[in-house]
Amino acid sequence: MEIKTIGVLGAGTMGNGIAQTAAAAGYNVVMRDIEDRFVENGLKNIDKFLGKSVEKGKMTQEAKDALMGRIKGTTKMEDLKDVDLVVEAVLEDMDLKKKVFKELDELTRKEVILATNTSSMSITEIASVTKRPDKFVGFHFFNPVPLMRLVEIIRGYYTSDETIKISFDLAKKLGKEPIEVKTDIPGFVVNRLMIPHLMEAIWLLQENIASKEDIDKAAKLGLNYPMGPFELMDLTGVDIAYHVNEYFHKELNKELKWVSPRMLKDMVKAGRLGRKTGAGWYDYNK
Ligand code: NAD
Repeated sequence: MEIKTIGVLGAGTMGNGIAQTAAAAGYNVVMRDIEDRFVENGLKNIDKFLGKSVEKGKMTQEAKDALMGRIKGTTKMEDLKDVDLVVEAVLEDMDLKKKVFKELDELTRKEVILATNTSSMSITEIASVTKRPDKFVGFHFFNPVPLMRLVEIIRGYYTSDETIKISFDLAKKLGKEPIEVKTDIPGFVVNRLMIPHLMEAIWLLQENIASKEDIDKAAKLGLNYPMGPFELMDLTGVDIAYHVNEYFHKELNKELKWVSPRMLKDMVKAGRLGRKTGAGWYDYNK
């Protein structure tokens, strides 16, 4: 079956990025959210992003208009009835994800692949509410979706080889580089690499081995990372790093390596969550 139209559930940060990326690759997109204002906000974000590309001379106005014309925003679930594949990007809530996939399973043709952009939840568990767990897959994009090249394609317990192959082909057509995560584990690959790096940086600081500035410098100049671990946490949220580490500790047999450093807990208690609160490991309101 040829994929021509992609359904995107959720018009938030990830949903509108996925919709834009799919439309840029020539697909028709139906992007659904629950209220008009969320749909409009999603479309506005895409329009803003593309507007900048036009200003910079990276895209013509005609190409931008054509791309926007391929995205239909809607609040009606029924509008996803005829899509050829769905990527879900609603809130990170298991009950909500199960509810929407139950609806999608009943609504869409039975050969349609259903994909979730969950960053932490079990693909197998979400798929269990559908009658097509073989056509269910994790499709983990990164933020901002139009710019980040990686997609983690995650196999649930029943995901078929054919579904993985179609997902790989689609990711490439979207201009992305897919990797296969062969088992449905907490954190997949990227977060399993990133979280220990962030925690180790905090342990080094807590044990007074080096200053945070020097640890950031070490990562940038010694490992060629674009950002140091403290700068990265301040950007993405100190609380997020904490919650993900606690989640790994709970899910991964409470191994010692996932115990959160005291300093990280104190930062979260103090509300120093990063750029979004004006202060994290560094101060931003000076
Ligand atoms: P977000 O809060 O920006 O957007 C979620 C959207 O889903 C909201 O607009 C909300 O109104 C909508 N929604 C809620 N119920 C819905 C329903 N029944 N039907 C359609 N839309 C509904 O969240 P986000 O950051 O875009 O995250 C979405 C998913 O992507 C989550 O599972 C998250 O874990 C995952 N993810 C996020 C990131 C990130 O950096 N933000 C990265 C990778 C994966």
